[in-house]
Amino acid sequence: MPQQNRSNEFVADWQQLLQHTPESVRQLVSAIVKRNAAELAQLFYNDMLADEEAKPFLDHELVSQRLNSSMQGWLRELFSVGKQDPIQLYQTQCHVGEVHARIHIPITLVMRGARLLKHAISAHLVNTDLARGDLVKATNFVFETLELALDAMTDSFVVGMEKHSRADEVYRMFALGQNMLAERERQRAALLEWTQQLLLGLLAETKEEELPAIQHSEFGIWLHHKASIVFESAPELVHIRQRVEEVEQSLTRRLFNARNNREDARSLMKELESGIAEIKFLLGGLFDRFIEVESGRDALTRLLNRRFLPSVLTREVTLARRSGVPFSLLLLDLDHFKNINDTFGHAGGDMVLQQAADIVSSSVRAGDFIFRFGGEELLVVLVEVDKERALTVAETMRRRFEAESFRVGEGKTTNVTVSIGIATYNGHPDFEKIIKNADSALYEAKEAGRNRCIQSQL
Ligand code: GH3
Ligand code: MG
Ligand code: MG
Repeated sequence: MPQQNRSNEFVADWQQLLQHTPESVRQLVSAIVKRNAAELAQLFYNDMLADEEAKPFLDHELVSQRLNSSMQGWLRELFSVGKQDPIQLYQTQCHVGEVHARIHIPITLVMRGARLLKHAISAHLVNTDLARGDLVKATNFVFETLELALDAMTDSFVVGMEKHSRADEVYRMFALGQNMLAERERQRAALLEWTQQLLLGLLAETKEEELPAIQHSEFGIWLHHKASIVFESAPELVHIRQRVEEVEQSLTRRLFNARNNREDARSLMKELESGIAEIKFLLGGLFDRFIEVESGRDALTRLLNRRFLPSVLTREVTLARRSGVPFSLLLLDLDHFKNINDTFGHAGGDMVLQQAADIVSSSVRAGDFIFRFGGEELLVVLVEVDKERALTVAETMRRRFEAESFRVGEGKTTNVTVSIGIATYNGHPDFEKIIKNADSALYEAKEAGRNRCIQSQL
């Protein structure tokens, strides 16, 4: 793994730097950074805020407060003496890089900020009574340390950006519709085409070896070469191959032999027809499942699956920032769902999940997004919805769950309640924070006795 290599490099460089810098020098740098952490962080953000490009990312009270204090913490940790674990230090830098990628802070700005920090810290060093030799070592230590940290950040920043653009890519596919639909129709048609050719061949009294072989048909070639790449080891594929082989090996021959015997031929035709129908059915299931996954839908609930969450939330954050109209998240978790599974079996649980998805879908607008967030957890993105409205929507949903008789199979029904955590965009550009807030609120709702909605106060 390249990331692993990078982490090893970081650790080696870091250890080398420590070896070349006397501990007394590192102590002094650490003390200076600690003493001036607040001032250094302020300097960093003042500079960023003065930048037109950076302003929209940072111009928010919450951001400046939180980023400012985490920047101070970051500086202190980076320069603390003695207790750092270099791997952990590397991971911290990666994490910072990922957050920057997520909230779209341009990397060039971070680099400029780091330069500012270097110069500010060395200005402090010059004002100490360090001997010239040690001053050089201390300055070098500061510069190298910040370089290393920045390298690690940049790496993961790039990886983070790539991750997002990959998710965006799939998201586009989901938005644009799918070629798989066309491919499915084409293969169905190819299968029918082969059947017709076979029947025509039999009617025309073609020699047995000249009858069209399914393995050389368009469908057969697709099955042999492409299907296994596209569908990998899907169980349907094995069944399809078995059916095809049966048709090929015995049915065609028997049909050929029976071509002059009407009765036999008729029943064999029926057999062929049902063999082909079964292949078509299996093929349809295979494609449908694939299309669901590719289109970002969860097969059981038909809700969006969570890999599109970053794309959707990144976009919503941007829209909310631009328009000033917030969006809200509802995180739902079914109460005591394990009991449902225990009492009515997993299939009963699945049915409840499907009905839960229906209740949620019919409680929101078409423009909202509903994700299957986890096993029996759903996440709703209510676009252009503020705190008050979010609470109303959640409360309506909760009551509908409470009132519903959920079918669990064999004519039985049961009651299920739901707990909901609510969080509203508060200007913080990192969408993970909003999810975290909703999650904490959900936890509170569970703790407070379930079957209730709790709103995050953050
Ligand atoms: P709590 O009120 O604290 O949420 O209790 P709970 O029993 O719902 O606990 P928890 O949320 O931890 O458990 C979720 C259970 O949901 C565990 C898992 O077996 C079940 N589950 C997850 N995914 C599915 C699924 O797709 N189908 C079915 N039938 N059950 C699932
Ligand atoms: Mg759960
Ligand atoms: Mg639960």
